[in-house]
Amino acid sequence: MIMKVADIIKVIEQFAPLTLAESYDNCGLMVGDANASITKLLLCVDVTPEIVEEAITTGAQMIVAHHPLIFAPIKKFVDKSSTERALLMLIKNDISLYIAHTSIDAAIDRKSTRLNFALGKKLNLSQMQVLSVAHPKGEGYGVIGELSEPMVYGDFISLLKDVTGMPYIRTTAPIKAMVKRVALCGGSGSDLLEKAISSGADLYISADFKYHAFFLAEKSISIADIGHYESEKVVLELFYGIIIKKYPNFAVCKTTINSNPIIYL
Ligand SMILES: [Zn+2]
Repeated sequence: MIMKVADIIKVIEQFAPLTLAESYDNCGLMVGDANASITKLLLCVDVTPEIVEEAITTGAQMIVAHHPLIFAPIKKFVDKSSTERALLMLIKNDISLYIAHTSIDAAIDRKSTRLNFALGKKLNLSQMQVLSVAHPKGEGYGVIGELSEPMVYGDFISLLKDVTGMPYIRTTAPIKAMVKRVALCGGSGSDLLEKAISSGADLYISADFKYHAFFLAEKSISIADIGHYESEKVVLELFYGIIIKKYPNFAVCKTTINSNPIIYL
């Protein structure tokens, strides 16, 4: 099946319009030509030279990623950093790159088509609502939801380990013995801690918490840091579902490479 880069962009932007992207962000078509023909698409969280190599060897002419490859301005295109290397490889091999970052983070519907709702669904949360509304139609960041039955704190942390694949989770001592109301935000969501507290959550799940955030949470809410990559890798299934639903016969592949720069020893 042959498609245009623009066809893929259209499908993604029906779910994640660029108007939802934050002003500091860099979403949209980052490399390539919207009119280029493609027969295969590769999905990933981060764009690394290894993942571009995977696109080349598997014959994918387009990559859709969550994290922008270019964030700060780049003044030279030489083989110095992994960003520059990945860019050069994309351009030399005629591979288009599209980024859906804060545009897909912002969430409104409850059909698990957005990142935080998808993660919440994996944790069996129901009655999910946007935690921090940021746009006029109600889109925003994070979700708050409830478990149908309260879970013992340690059991819920075990579920988190299963879902994320993390061997350890940085967490506070349980404030309450049971967890029922849960707030979560994939990626660096520590700035939503106050929102999570005021929403009455027993536990706030996110990533990249600083040491002092764990003190801020004291007595109000428990915190679980599930890792940045681990909390966002669900985006692959999200992209996949969105595109396959519209084009069931198109060759869409999820990367087989774990791009998390952090390992646990
Ligand atoms: Zn992220």
